[in-house]
Amino acid sequence: MPLSTLIAVLAGAVLTGAAVYILIIIAAAWRRESAAAESAALEHRLLRERIEAAAQRSRVEREADELSWNGLRKFSLARKVTEAEGIASFYLVAHDGRPLPPFKPGQYLTFSLRLPGSDKPLVRCYSLSEAPESRDHYRVTIKKVPPGPGHEQGGRASTFFHDVLKVGDIVDVKAPSGKFHLDAERSGPVVLIGSGVGLTPVLSMLNSIASAKSGRETWFFYGVPDGRHHAMKDHLKALAKDNPNVRLHVSYSKPGPGDVADSDFHHSGRFSVDVLKRLLPSSNYDYYLCGPSVMMDETVAGLKAWGVPESSIHFESFGSGTAKALAPASDADSGQLEVTFARSKRCASWTPASGSLLDLAEAAGITIPSGCRTGNCGTCITAVQSGMFDYLVQPGSPPEKGSCLACVTRPKSALTLDA
Ligand SMILES: Cc1cc2nc3c(=O)[nH]c(=O)nc-3n(C[C@H](O)[C@H](O)[C@H](O)COP(=O)(O)OP(=O)(O)OC[C@H]3O[C@@H](n4cnc5c(N)ncnc54)[C@H](O)[C@@H]3O)c2cc1C
Repeated sequence: MPLSTLIAVLAGAVLTGAAVYILIIIAAAWRRESAAAESAALEHRLLRERIEAAAQRSRVEREADELSWNGLRKFSLARKVTEAEGIASFYLVAHDGRPLPPFKPGQYLTFSLRLPGSDKPLVRCYSLSEAPESRDHYRVTIKKVPPGPGHEQGGRASTFFHDVLKVGDIVDVKAPSGKFHLDAERSGPVVLIGSGVGLTPVLSMLNSIASAKSGRETWFFYGVPDGRHHAMKDHLKALAKDNPNVRLHVSYSKPGPGDVADSDFHHSGRFSVDVLKRLLPSSNYDYYLCGPSVMMDETVAGLKAWGVPESSIHFESFGSGTAKALAPASDADSGQLEVTFARSKRCASWTPASGSLLDLAEAAGITIPSGCRTGNCGTCITAVQSGMFDYLVQPGSPPEKGSCLACVTRPKSALTLDA
């Protein structure tokens, strides 16, 4: 090959190599730039989402403030829907026709009911069971408490709702409240656990996650005796089918002959932390639970033993049993303390076995008006004239200084109450 041809071939090869090298450099730089642009776009999107969430939060809070009300407001029953044996939903609309404030999923309404033949109002709390979106009505879902030994009439308020209240009838209602609610701004994975009628607040949380379409990882555990007591079956199934981020798991403690495994229910037996351990990839979730006191006490203890920090366990009790069961020990546990009921001119000795100040008053024949017995409705607020006290469980909304919610309070020293 002549020298000039060889030089030309070599020069061509060098030029081609240089061109390829330059192209590689350009491609790498382009890839770096597009990766940086992608990450900037992601950061920008997250920032925009945070700003939108904050704006939405302040809009909702402003709206809630503007539309909320003090004291009692009249609502009429618009619709009643049977959900399962002994469980019905009640749809309530404001009698004044004005829009309703939004609420936080998990919050409840407090009713002041005028029962036939009774001159005193009966105060009861019922959780809102829908997502907070609807502004023209509220829905509560109530289990009719059946009669039992020494209580042949059954639950007073729940029987009134089921058997006496008719469409068009009026009830007095306090604005939504309660601290057991989902933090809608957080996007971390959650486990929602409802047992029996304890379904209601966690159902509101689930509905709100589904309607926000946030994709937030959500496990929903629901425990009932059998298919007859399985409320909202079709709604829950449809919601799990339409939302891949939602996993539904139903436990029947005593499945009936017609109940179909893997269709109606997924686990035969009582719900327990073992079910969670079997199904969840880790314990690293925020847990929200509501149900009978035994189930709650066992689940909270089981979660703690599994290493779940207390700050990730949120629960609400519908009855007074849990308040006592979960009460932390303190100095007050060791002795006997004198409680004076000044207006009644009576004294009583409190010991840890006495329970709350409300229990002590009732045992001594002293009437303190009461409602929920869980420190939520505020009916048993009582002025404290002297002495120190603390709470068996933190009340939903702590009362003003100088007063206590007798249903969840115990003395820490000799105490004088204005009761
Ligand atoms: C924050 C909160 C949210 C709630 N949300 C819901 C909800 O969404 N749905 C729901 O169904 N419930 C809910 N509850 C429970 C509800 O407020 C009532 O406690 C429940 O409906 C029972 O009230 P009642 O008047 O029907 O029964 P009550 O007449 O108060 O009877 C309650 C229980 O005490 C027993 N009892 C009462 N008196 C006697 C007696 N003399 N002798 C023996 N036993 C007696 C009864 O057998 C019964 O088991 C909630 C409670 C709270 C605190």
